[in-house]
Amino acid sequence: MVLLAEHTTTTARDALEDVEVAVVPTGSVEQHGPALPLGTDFMAAEALAATCRDRDDAVVLPTIPVGVSEHHRQFHGTLWTDPETFEDYVSDVLGSMAHHGVRKAVVVNGHGGNTDALQRAARSLRQEETAFAAPWNWWDSLDGLTEELFGDAGIGHADQMEASMMLRIADHLVRESAMAEAEAGASDAWGEGVHGANVGFDTIDFSDSGAVGEPTLATREAGDRLFQTAEEELAALVDWLGEQPFEDLLPADHR
Ligand SMILES: [Zn+2]
Repeated sequence: MVLLAEHTTTTARDALEDVEVAVVPTGSVEQHGPALPLGTDFMAAEALAATCRDRDDAVVLPTIPVGVSEHHRQFHGTLWTDPETFEDYVSDVLGSMAHHGVRKAVVVNGHGGNTDALQRAARSLRQEETAFAAPWNWWDSLDGLTEELFGDAGIGHADQMEASMMLRIADHLVRESAMAEAEAGASDAWGEGVHGANVGFDTIDFSDSGAVGEPTLATREAGDRLFQTAEEELAALVDWLGEQPFEDLLPADHR
């Protein structure tokens, strides 16, 4: 069906009868260094979620763009909400869909900082038997593809992987002339490890440019591969979830 927000209430009533799975994009508006747009994370999630728009068994919800990003606050333009607010907001959106009879959902997430809150939301919704939501980080679906594309180069944030994805999704928003600057001030990896402790709490603690890894390695071709692989995995996940009887997804009573 088309995007939920493009329906009227009367056309939604009919279309939702066939829908098994709600697809909800979540992301962030946060610094991605000097080369990538602030909206990188929600744009990636939105573009991948939109690949489900022609399915009759799924409905794509509006994007939840602002996420858990306070650790980027020292960089201009970053917006954030606290984890509990984000968790409650996502839960309420999924609860609304459950009210309309769509009790299974995939949260297409574009921002690692949202992960813990999404897991908590999904766990609570399942425990309450309101809905079953599967949080899905697009980069976790790639199964070795980043190593194949970029070798052992560090991966993290505003890196070669995200930059490639943005070249695929919205290349007009990528400032390729700033890639070298992004890389010059990038950290090798996400965080700062000292004797096994991560003492990099804010991005500014370990990255001067806000980027990580080697964004100059980004290519449009790599972005095509990343997008295609993630799209296929998402489609397979929605297929799987659509086939599961809701009751089978609820927590077991006893062993
Ligand atoms: Zn990002």
